[in-house]
Amino acid sequence: MNYHAYYPLDVVNGPGTRCTLFVSGCVHQCRGCYNKSTWRLTSGQLFTPEIEDRIVTDLQDKVIPRQGLSLSGGDPLHPQNLSAVDHLLQRISDECPGKNVWMWTGYRLDELSGDQRRTIARVNVLVDGKFVQDLHDPSLVWRGSSNQVIHFLR
Ligand code: SF4
Repeated sequence: MNYHAYYPLDVVNGPGTRCTLFVSGCVHQCRGCYNKSTWRLTSGQLFTPEIEDRIVTDLQDKVIPRQGLSLSGGDPLHPQNLSAVDHLLQRISDECPGKNVWMWTGYRLDELSGDQRRTIARVNVLVDGKFVQDLHDPSLVWRGSSNQVIHFLR
């Protein structure tokens, strides 16, 4: 998996103070996409064990406690991202107790494959659906268009 950006301290993408990772790769091609540069799987830089370690360490930080991790992109549920995202989420589950995971995907919850459903088993909140420019509403919190749904999964 490649990623575009990692913000160790973020107060915009999800509730509270968080870590945020923008991964590479998205098939949805939404008109008006704010992040077109992330569409290619090979864009950005390689998601290495070192950056994974950094995220886990940041989530364990006691000086500036984070509520959890936000995963966006690109699309964390792109089929070719699933194994790396699974590995990261497994580590957060094992090594960062009490931290929540929010994820943004262009897929709708009801159209996820079996593999994608296995990945979201460790996700607390899923914001789903493509960005639809005609339904864009800047007053919405944590989503860009009114078709997108915030699913509080667990
Ligand atoms: S799902 Fe998100 S990243 Fe992908 S094309 Fe749509 S708005 Fe862009």
